[in-house]
Amino acid sequence: MKQVVLSNIPFKPDRDGLLKKLHMDAGSEDGIRFLDLIRQAEKIGRPKAVYALASIDQKLSDGVVVEGIRLTSRIMRVNFADINRVFPYVITCGRELSEWAAGLEDMLEQYMADLIMEQALEAARRYLYDHLDKEYRLGSFKSMNPGSLEDWPLSQQKQIFQILGKVKEAIGVELNDSCLMLPMKSVSGILFQTESSYENCQLCPREFCPNRRAEYNPQLFEEKYQGAYK
Ligand code: SF4
Repeated sequence: MKQVVLSNIPFKPDRDGLLKKLHMDAGSEDGIRFLDLIRQAEKIGRPKAVYALASIDQKLSDGVVVEGIRLTSRIMRVNFADINRVFPYVITCGRELSEWAAGLEDMLEQYMADLIMEQALEAARRYLYDHLDKEYRLGSFKSMNPGSLEDWPLSQQKQIFQILGKVKEAIGVELNDSCLMLPMKSVSGILFQTESSYENCQLCPREFCPNRRAEYNPQLFEEKYQGAYK
């Protein structure tokens, strides 16, 4: 299984969108400060991604085995029922930006840097998705992420890292003892080809989540996934 590193990802922060998010005018004192930080980040920022094309070796009642590594998620078992290959991945805003942000002392500037790093992470996500679509002609594909749902705990990030191998050397992302990724603005997951409209958020009842991508749909669990728990 070959690890593929994407490290030449263009990063062009959306200045207008960022200013709008903070309700700031480009000409105001804070707006000028924000634009200066954006300029700095644009020079420094190196978002990155690593992925692999991986085989599903086995389908179990409570999960799957990918490249010899066991992933325990019944929802995954259902989602992967008709496929035999998947794409484990890690994306990140990059160490360059997180080290730059760590050097900022002012709280407002730290918050601004946080928003900029989120955009860098999003740039990595879009780039990876476009790349996979071009390379493998996937058409429609979706992502599952450890820790998004109780069904697939955060601790299984270790398994994603195991499957990918040498993630730190490839893109500078490591797991700490609590299974959190450093830099913090990083995401791990597994992409799979599907015609369904699956989103983790459809099965997540959390209220007021700022990152929600789809409405909570309790019927979906009952209709499609509950059987896997019996
Ligand atoms: S609603 Fe929020 S917490 Fe729940 S899966 Fe979606 S992004 Fe994650």
